[in-house]
Amino acid sequence: MVELVVLASGSRGNCTLVRAGRTAVLIDAGLSAKQIVERLAAVGQDPRGLAAILLTHEHIDHTRGVAVLARRFTVPVIANAATWQAAEVQLRDIPAGEFFVTGTRFTVGALEVTPFSIPHDAAEPVGFVIESEGMRVGYATDLGHVTRLVAARLAGCHALVFEANHDLEMLMSGPYPWATKQRVASRTGHLSNEHAAEFLPQVVGEETGHLVLAHLSETNNDPVLARATVETALAETGRTHVSLTTARQDRPAAAVRL
Ligand SMILES: [Zn+2]
Ligand SMILES: [Zn+2]
Repeated sequence: MVELVVLASGSRGNCTLVRAGRTAVLIDAGLSAKQIVERLAAVGQDPRGLAAILLTHEHIDHTRGVAVLARRFTVPVIANAATWQAAEVQLRDIPAGEFFVTGTRFTVGALEVTPFSIPHDAAEPVGFVIESEGMRVGYATDLGHVTRLVAARLAGCHALVFEANHDLEMLMSGPYPWATKQRVASRTGHLSNEHAAEFLPQVVGEETGHLVLAHLSETNNDPVLARATVETALAETGRTHVSLTTARQDRPAAAVRL
């Protein structure tokens, strides 16, 4: 069985657990190490049993707990060279890191991991496709727009974690300073509900059983609205078989099991 639990998602911290057989990895560790350990305990995962922390990019909401977890529980951190360099301050004192090359598949225990480029205002941000036991999980948040590469990588996944960051109208009429609004809505910022809804019917296929909407803004989005926007778009294209959930900032989302 392949299991996926979004332990936290949103602008205050992102962390997702993926496990298959005896292998467990985290995608990002953007909460404090203490909070991550608590959330791992809630889903029965010993942090000492983590095979790796895979990093999507260096932003603090993805890296806050990485150094402490890596040191305290001797967990290898795996990232591309540009992210390592950009995250140097957060990752200080970690014994020599492990690298992947974006676009090149690598293996962590029972998991085959393919990192792919996403458009976001970080050094070399990536999404991941993780395969095990014939099941494929796609993960992409923090992307300003959807590229052909993103669409190609996410097609055919059995479970998807995908960004629905903001409702465009809530963002524009909300409290963020103008420059921040521009940054979030830009082509290297974050995806809106509307963009997610436009894109997802292209990649949600017969085999896609689960879709988790992630990185929802607590200020500029509403989980009910995000879900309804995407659900309507999927229903319009006949894709009503997908189990759709929204990831939470304050607690782990329901586990997805494949
Ligand atoms: Zn980011
Ligand atoms: Zn982020």
